[in-house]
Amino acid sequence: MLDNLVRKNILALKPYSCARDEFKGRNANIFLDANENPYNGPYNRYPDPLQEELKARLAVVKGVPASRMFLGNGSDEPIDLVYRIFCEPRIDNVVAMAPTYGMYRVAADINDVEYRAVPLREDFSLDADALLAATDSHTKVIWLCSPNNPTGNALERAAIEHILQEFQGIVVVDEAYSDFNDFRPFRLDLDRFPNLVVLNTFSKLWASAAIRLGMAFASEEIIALFNKVKYPYNVNLLTQQQAMNLLNDLQHVNLWRATVLRERSHLLPAIAELPICRAVYPTDANFVLARIIDAERVYHYLIDCGIVVRNRSRVELCDNCLRITIGTPEENNALLGALRQYRGR
Ligand SMILES: *Cc1c(COP(=O)(O)O)cnc(C)c1O
Repeated sequence: MLDNLVRKNILALKPYSCARDEFKGRNANIFLDANENPYNGPYNRYPDPLQEELKARLAVVKGVPASRMFLGNGSDEPIDLVYRIFCEPRIDNVVAMAPTYGMYRVAADINDVEYRAVPLREDFSLDADALLAATDSHTKVIWLCSPNNPTGNALERAAIEHILQEFQGIVVVDEAYSDFNDFRPFRLDLDRFPNLVVLNTFSKLWASAAIRLGMAFASEEIIALFNKVKYPYNVNLLTQQQAMNLLNDLQHVNLWRATVLRERSHLLPAIAELPICRAVYPTDANFVLARIIDAERVYHYLIDCGIVVRNRSRVELCDNCLRITIGTPEENNALLGALRQYRGR
């Protein structure tokens, strides 16, 4: 099945062979094979191209074997690789929901691949059959984002499974925010769905957007394609080390999650009570979408108060909506204080 989905040039590709690939498994302590400078260790050496130590640690935390894991320069990298591996420019297309995360379309445009956006229902739920109806014989990928950005809701599992079963191509489920809810994550269901790619990231719950580390979980066959096409040393040593430090201190991550969820439960009703608020949408993520009277002006008012939120008012279905990230208790109080003082202008 997979061979029919992959671009011919990628199937035929002979990947770059790293100097370090060749001696692998044998003992050596003098490395004169990669034209590195012998001084300034450990930064003089090329990093592990497949990040094996980090993946072994992540396998335990994520419940997915290292062989079904790809690590990249943020989620941006696996998003781009999906196009480069599966989509023939100007011939193939992808289908996604709208509104959703903007990078799927940007990466489609960069790769010159047609992007078909299908609206969510008014309540932001997924219309699986509408997405399937938008596919044709050249559709290689369906993009799903759950919980969805910017709407905040997790998609119904049954609707996602329906697409995974009916669609013959790749289905990407971006679960960047799955750490903020208790639904079963799709990365645990790779056995049931050979066409599934799940994205996770260090940028949200893991509080490490600066180190640029994204994860993709998929079958070993799909992971082999990612590894074939990626830059040889796509995750640098500093990033690998910093991620290991974090994984050795999971208490912090658990505390962050508890704090964000508690703050979320305080912030939502407080926003809903504001006279300028028309709706606060249910959220399964670390942000909330709120419909506000005159969102554009409120957005600029908040900036004058030194508070930046995301103005989504020009996005489909999100007329007059602001997307607000859950901050520290102090930050959230400052936001509420400013919004309570807003008098229109
Ligand atoms: C924030 C976010 C990401 C994270 O992207 P990185 O490149 O890993 O920082 C991925 N997907 C969605 C939907 C997001 O909102």
